[in-house]
Amino acid sequence: MIIVLKKEITASQKDKIESFIRSFDSSPSYWKNNGFDVIGLLEQDLSIWENDLKNMDGVEKVIPIKKEYKRVASELPPKIIKYKGVEIGKDTFNVIAGPCTVKSYEELKEIAISLKKKGIRLLRAGAYKLRTSPYSFQGLGEEGLKIIKRVCDETGMLSVSEIVSTEDVEIVSKYIDIVVVGTRNMYAYPLLKKIGKINNPVILKRGFSATLEEWLLAAEYLAESGNSNIILCERGIRTFERYTRNTLDISMIPAVKILSNLPIIIDPSHSTGRSEMVKSICFASMAAGADGLIIEAHYNPIESIVDSRQTIDMEILQEILDQKENLINLWDKK
Ligand code: PEP
Ligand code: MN
Repeated sequence: MIIVLKKEITASQKDKIESFIRSFDSSPSYWKNNGFDVIGLLEQDLSIWENDLKNMDGVEKVIPIKKEYKRVASELPPKIIKYKGVEIGKDTFNVIAGPCTVKSYEELKEIAISLKKKGIRLLRAGAYKLRTSPYSFQGLGEEGLKIIKRVCDETGMLSVSEIVSTEDVEIVSKYIDIVVVGTRNMYAYPLLKKIGKINNPVILKRGFSATLEEWLLAAEYLAESGNSNIILCERGIRTFERYTRNTLDISMIPAVKILSNLPIIIDPSHSTGRSEMVKSICFASMAAGADGLIIEAHYNPIESIVDSRQTIDMEILQEILDQKENLINLWDKK
């Protein structure tokens, strides 16, 4: 529930409201919205006290949050994630790029340098991979994390990499800035709870068969465990269509904004599975109001150890970036 206080509230009226709230042992959060002081009560369900609160002096209005995902609901102020000089959410637009998976220091460094020249600050690269076949390359593990950290330290970029299991949360969060929960793990609640205990921002990819509500409830697991620095990522869902790797559900951009306060980014690589489609999907995502993109890119895509078919080269990436300002301007983003 959210309590909006009157602009002309007195200190004693505010005290009364606060001590009433504290009598329920709640831990309220405070913010400002359009010049009004707002108190958010998210710990307990105080809906039976709605009328009492409404009638207290100094209260402008009470807004109940009827949603089960109350910590990531659109009734709360839009989430802006601030981390090591990067801002994600609301009026911002961020491009994350890099190879699917780290193969060697030399290769990642060369990619990072090309991206940095283009003004990209966020480097993606997998070290732990969840592959459909047990015979496919599974990632370099800790060795990969060390390479990613070294490259980011040397280039001043921030790293983005996936955590695939609860045992790896500690080690990945030590080396990596922004952690990722992949599509296969969106329902891995013990993993979400554990990532909820770390401070790194987290990209939560939509499960390939998840409804919007299930996805937002997965985000609620993270927030409820203590980490609300969440970025949702639509990466396509599984449908009957086989030409594309997945079916990108672009309608999730406005849908997430209607229901949630979290930013949403688009993954054009895993949704299409085809490098020649990536630019078009990036344009569409920017025009539809996405808060960012996460793109698989390499200076020579055929050298990518994983997902080379969907990896774009630096020229296509530049063509995408060349239209960025025009398209994100539609949404007053920077
Ligand atoms: C990835 O980003 O490399 C990845 C495996 O993505 P997803 O979990 O969306 O398939
Ligand atoms: Mn990939």
